[in-house]
Amino acid sequence: MSTVDVAIVGGGYAGLAVAHFARRRGLRPLVLERDERPGGKVLSRREAGAVVELGPLGFLDKEPAITEMAADLGLRPVAAAPAEKVRYLLHRGRITALPSGPWSFLTTPFLSPAARLRVLAEPFVPARRDGGDESARDFARRRLGRGLADAIFEPFVSGVYAGDPARLSAPAAFPLLAGWERDHGSLTVGAIRHLRDRARRRKAGEPVGSGRLCTFPGGLLELAEAGARSLGDAFRPGCAAAAARRDGGAWVVLDRAGAELARAPELVVACPAPAAAELLAAESPALAAAVAGVRGDPLCVVAALFRREQVREDVDRGFGFLAARSEGFRPLGVQFAHAIFPDQTPAGLVQLRVLIGGAFDPEAHALDDAGLYEACYGPLRGLLGLAGEPLRTWTRRVMGGVPQYELGHLERMATVAAEADRLGGLHFAGDSFGGVGVVKAFARARAVAAALRGGGGS
Ligand SMILES: Cc1cc2nc3c(=O)[nH]c(=O)nc-3n(C[C@H](O)[C@H](O)[C@H](O)COP(=O)(O)OP(=O)(O)OC[C@H]3O[C@@H](n4cnc5c(N)ncnc54)[C@H](O)[C@@H]3O)c2cc1C
Repeated sequence: MSTVDVAIVGGGYAGLAVAHFARRRGLRPLVLERDERPGGKVLSRREAGAVVELGPLGFLDKEPAITEMAADLGLRPVAAAPAEKVRYLLHRGRITALPSGPWSFLTTPFLSPAARLRVLAEPFVPARRDGGDESARDFARRRLGRGLADAIFEPFVSGVYAGDPARLSAPAAFPLLAGWERDHGSLTVGAIRHLRDRARRRKAGEPVGSGRLCTFPGGLLELAEAGARSLGDAFRPGCAAAAARRDGGAWVVLDRAGAELARAPELVVACPAPAAAELLAAESPALAAAVAGVRGDPLCVVAALFRREQVREDVDRGFGFLAARSEGFRPLGVQFAHAIFPDQTPAGLVQLRVLIGGAFDPEAHALDDAGLYEACYGPLRGLLGLAGEPLRTWTRRVMGGVPQYELGHLERMATVAAEADRLGGLHFAGDSFGGVGVVKAFARARAVAAALRGGGGS
């Protein structure tokens, strides 16, 4: 058993970042990680001369905590190829570029003339400022009209949450958009002010980042591995926490057999909601019940390498494409990984990543590997002109998928915050609590590390 300043349950990006920034403050952290490796959802395979991402693909360079931690550990992010900015949607069976500016918006085939006018009228839609909850689907339809909400917003929600817009809470899952309505009365006005503000801050020399999609030369796992390595014995793999209880002024973390794993005045819960609920069930049933309300559906990644001559369509032209459900295309989206990060795929090869599962297809994970491959790549034979068998495939099932911030999420988080306050020394990081995605994991982790008691400088 170890007595430390802060016990951290979960060694994904969030837990590792909390540990890193806590150490920078002079605190002694201990990360307990259930798996034998760090990284959690982040999983990069370096095989067949390629870097293959089987979790997140990259992160947007807009959170200084990522670049700072990377720099501390001797790593430098690499930016995606400029083509990455070009995004596509499947539209009537064709891979069609999303509008990238006002002119292409006016001519986009995704929206009827009436739907376009409706979007242009967005600033005149009365703002809702009552602070109440609303589904992401209703929010998008109310502000932007049904045309854009169903044709573009729904696949965008799939791309971020693999979720159902009718169940996700707009203020919880899309706080930036909800904030634009609340603060500026309009998404259009909010977006313009947001861009202006970023430009002003960049000019003033503030670290706002390039906004480009980034990774590390050896994939995203490189940062997790470096973070774990730098912690030495303070990163403990193969160490599942089963319960946490208050003992005097300390938190004691126990394994399934009841043995003490760590004792610390501060506890950071950086594991997914189901594990967090189990961890805290004995200490606070109310907190555990609120946490258990953050659910997720299995999400699968099937990556494959092909020789370039096996692919008829131009798959160098951008990021890849998402599909609205109305297209009848089973996967959530397809990424042209070799075109996004060209250095991560050998010359002459094409690397595709297909995501399948999520809220609308929660049973996809039950297919065997061959079935999953067929569900993902079968439809691409015609669409991309794929011929023959891949040189190599990789399949990963992420059982908890992406946490869904469904209606009532903010209320659940208020209960979590109140109970954490009552118990004392308890903090929550990670994507079940602090926002989905790599950027939010780091932003929240740094804030949590700053809020820990004790230690010296920053
Ligand atoms: C397929 C997929 C694609 C994605 N794509 C992107 C993307 O392109 N860009 C982006 O920004 N985000 C993406 N995301 C989201 C992003 O991966 C996550 O939001 C982020 O990695 C979350 O990190 P985390 O540390 O909060 O959680 P996790 O990575 O889930 O880490 C939690 C850790 O807790 C450990 N743990 C669980 N139970 C216990 C226990 N009892 N005791 C100890 N440890 C425990 C787990 O093993 C795990 O290591 C994607 C997610 C998925 C699933």
